[in-house]
Parts: sequence; C-alpha cells; structure tokens
Amino acid sequence: MVTTYKHHIGGKWIRSFSGKTFMSINPANKAPVGKFQQGNRQDIDAAVRAATSAFKSWKDVPAPKRGEILLRAAQILRKRKEKFARIVTKEMGKVISEGRGDVQEAIDIFEYMAGEGRRLFGHTTPSELRNKFCMTFRQPLGVVGLITPWNFPIAIPAWKLAPALICGNSVIFKPSSDTPLCATKLVALLIEAGIPSGVLNLVTGSGNDVGMALVKHPSIRGISFTGSRTVGEKIVQYAGLKRVGLELGGKNPIIIMEDADLELAVEGVIWGGFGTTGQRCTAASRVIVHHKVKKQFEKRLLDHIKKLRVGDGIKKTTDVGPLINQKAVEKVHGYTLIGKQEGARLLHGGRFLNKKGFFYEPTVFSDVSPSMRIAQEEIFGPSISIIAVKDIKEAIDVCNRIEYGLSSSIYTNNIQNAFLAIEKIEAGITYVNASTIGSEVHLPFGGVKLTGNGTREAGIEGIYEFSETKTIYVDYSGKLQKAQIDDVMVR
Ligand code: NAD
Repeated sequence: MVTTYKHHIGGKWIRSFSGKTFMSINPANKAPVGKFQQGNRQDIDAAVRAATSAFKSWKDVPAPKRGEILLRAAQILRKRKEKFARIVTKEMGKVISEGRGDVQEAIDIFEYMAGEGRRLFGHTTPSELRNKFCMTFRQPLGVVGLITPWNFPIAIPAWKLAPALICGNSVIFKPSSDTPLCATKLVALLIEAGIPSGVLNLVTGSGNDVGMALVKHPSIRGISFTGSRTVGEKIVQYAGLKRVGLELGGKNPIIIMEDADLELAVEGVIWGGFGTTGQRCTAASRVIVHHKVKKQFEKRLLDHIKKLRVGDGIKKTTDVGPLINQKAVEKVHGYTLIGKQEGARLLHGGRFLNKKGFFYEPTVFSDVSPSMRIAQEEIFGPSISIIAVKDIKEAIDVCNRIEYGLSSSIYTNNIQNAFLAIEKIEAGITYVNASTIGSEVHLPFGGVKLTGNGTREAGIEGIYEFSETKTIYVDYSGKLQKAQIDDVMVR
C-alpha cells in the first residue's frame, strides 16, 4: 500500500482541487515512496487566501515568541534526526551520512534563526538636526512563496522557512516533485512545533502549474527560489515587482597549485566532485591543476576513485548514491558523449551502471580546455574536468572564464597564491585548502554572476530577503524643522 499525502492549507491537510496525484520514487531502486497531490492554480489561490488571513496576526506575534517555535522545531528534529535522514536517503538517494548532514543543516538554521528573533537588528544613527531621533527596523514582506529543488530536500526548505517565519511572513511552500515526502514531513514537524494555522501552507505539484501560479499571483510579495538557471530566468520574467531571491547553478573550480598538499587536494576533489553524486550547486566540476603536478595528481585521483563504492545510499558501505532520476542519467551521459566529441580524454567512468536505480560511474575527463562545454555547463552529476595551467594567473583566469560564480577553492601552501585567489576569483564563496562544499549556517551563502541576483541565504544576511527596512524619524523639538534647508540648521 502506497500512502497518499495531502496539501496543508489553512491549518488542514486537504486534497488538491484537481483530484489527481503523482508518485515519488526511491532513485536507488524505483520503489514508490508515496503519492502526492497534483496541485494547480486553485490550490494556490486557496493557500494565498489562508496565508493572507493568517499574516494579520502572525506579523504581530513578538519575534522572540516566533523564535520559540523555531527552537522547538529544532529540538524535535534533533530527536528525529535519524528518521528524517533515512527519509532523505530513501526519496533523494544521497548516502545516509549525507542524509544526516542535510537534516543537521535544518536543525542548525532553525536554532540560528530562533536566535535572530531576539535581534532582527535595525540601525540608530544621529540626525542632522537637533532634538530629532533616527532609526530603522525590519518588517515582514507579507505572503511569500518558497520554491525549492530536490538536492537538499530538508536543508534548503529550512534555509528559507526559518528566516521567512522569524521575520513574520506567512508562507506558501512548493517543493520539488522529486522530494515531496521530505517537504511534507518537514511541514508536519513545524506545525507540531506550534506554527499557527494558515501561516505555513504546502502545495505540491509541477513547476509549470503550481510554481508559476505562485510566481504570478498578485497577492504574493516575495518569491524565494533555488533551482536551475533556466527556471530562475523564467521566474524573473513573470514575477513582476515582487521581491525575488534566486539561488541558481554553479560550475565550481578547485585550483591545485604546485605547492599544494596533493593528498589533501585529492580528498577535496573526491568529496567536492562525487559527494552527493555531484548533485550539489557547489559541487567541484572543474579541477584546474598546475601542469607540474598534473600527472601525479591524476594518478592519486584514480587510485582513490577506483575504491569508490556506488550503490544504494542507505547501506553504510556506499560512497556514491544514485542520480535523482532517469532524466539526470541521460543528461550526465549526454555530457560524457559531448566531452569525447570535444576531444577531452576520458580517464575514468563514463558509463551507466547496470543496477535497479539511476546509477552512473564517477567520471573524469583530462586534457580539457576551458572553453569546452563540459568545462562551461552545469552537468549536475559525478563528472569532473581536469584543466592544466602554467601559473596562478592563468589558474584564476580559467576560474573566471565562466558565466557562473558560486563556490571556488584553492589548494596551496603559498600565502600569495591564497590571497590572490581570495581577492580575484569571481565567486560568492572561496575556500582555501578545503573543497568547494561545506557551508555553515551562520555565514552568508550565494553566488555572483549568473548564479543568482545578489541575494544571500543563511547568516545575518538571510533575513534581508524576507524583510523590508522601515525608516523612522522622531522630532521632539516641538517646532517645524526642515532637513537640508540651511537657514533652519544654522543657529
Ligand atoms: P529546477 O529549476 O528544475 O526546479 C526547482 C524548483 O522549481 C522545483 O520545485 C520545480 O518544480 C520548480 N519549477 C520548475 N519550473 C518552474 C516554473 N516554470 N515556475 C516556477 N517553478 C518552477 O531545479 P532542480 O533540478 O530541482 O535543482 C537543480 C538545480 O538547482 C541546479 O541547477 C542546482 O545548481 C540548483 N541549486 C542551486 C542552489 C544554490 O543555492 N545556488 C542550491 C541547490 C540547487
């Protein structure tokens, strides 16, 4: 028996107006995980009505009280971490240790944003006039729409839900159709923690129907989107004057200089390139190596890759899980064929794995030139390209010759190289002597160039996306004072 899950609208679990459902499956073995409501515009309309009504009282709940609910959610999630991690692995495929990491990130952001309830700082600043007081404070936007991908099915929704709720917004959450069970369980947990009826609404269904209805809805004040560049561009086109936050793709480089600790660099490339089966926005997909150490690096890399065990992520012995679906397998394999056609040298992998699920071999191309498509386009799978360079200047130049700018990394023991990379690499994140992945929730996360539109998630900046600044002037002089008018100011 496959369980059928429902939308959560106005405090109730209800069916979609369409009466239709879709199936979510386990990518490791294609077994059904659950049936979910195939939402449409009517469901979004109902959710917007509920959220608009709930916003009126939610915005007036003191932020520290809102924080108490988030803290409770963190505590419940901590107790159920293993259960949630197994759901992540079952529905999304990542290995169980990473499933736990996905859940831990949600615990961390709930705790962090709970604390933000006692800050939500504005500024005070002197006035240019006497007997006048100036300050700013933060207000919620109103009803916001959250649209999320499948690759961090608990962490990414939590990264958006926590700041949206602590700022006093009410929310309509539309998760990826590849991971609706994770979303449903997370929403149920927040409701259990005490989020009032109508403040948090869940509508599942396709991007074109549910996602677009959310993006176009005139009563929605903000859209926070994480996903592909193609969809991000579409959202900007249809969102009108709403606040839009976009966290899009990446093509993240690791530079390895001739003075690097090569063993450390190899471990970083394996983790960055094949962790989460390469399905992270911060995955390392370009390895830019100093030509003097390229041969040695490649030999060590291959020694490590040969030991990787590909399989069902639920097994403790698995290092690399499946891809998310058949379309992803075809996309990754398509890039293997492109790489070969472009003249890159296939060092390892490049084949489907004949198993029950969506498995693909960890793949490495060498002798890649920076302009090849495999070095320019986001593959979003276990495929890395090695590019040789002669010095740090060329390495940084190759790094930057790309449309994206999310994460980046350099392995070096030379402080000049390290600081040149920190200063010159065009990316939102640069790691020194660590891989391209592993963000912490109290630091801002996001990219430059076509990775987004400048918003940052997490950290103190995470609340900017979900709040407006209000500016206050209090004049206690008891007379008319005019700013910028000289004769009033001069006494
Ligand atoms: P996707 O763009 O296909 O889907 C993301 C979400 O958008 C899903 O919920 C989907 O249903 C919805 N959607 C699809 N079409 C829509 C439309 N027309 N209108 C509104 N919503 C629509 O992305 P994906 O395959 O789920 O995720 C992979 C992508 O996400 C990669 O490009 C990856 O780099 C990116 N990503 C970025 C970050 C980041 O923080 N920068 C983090 C994780 C993933």
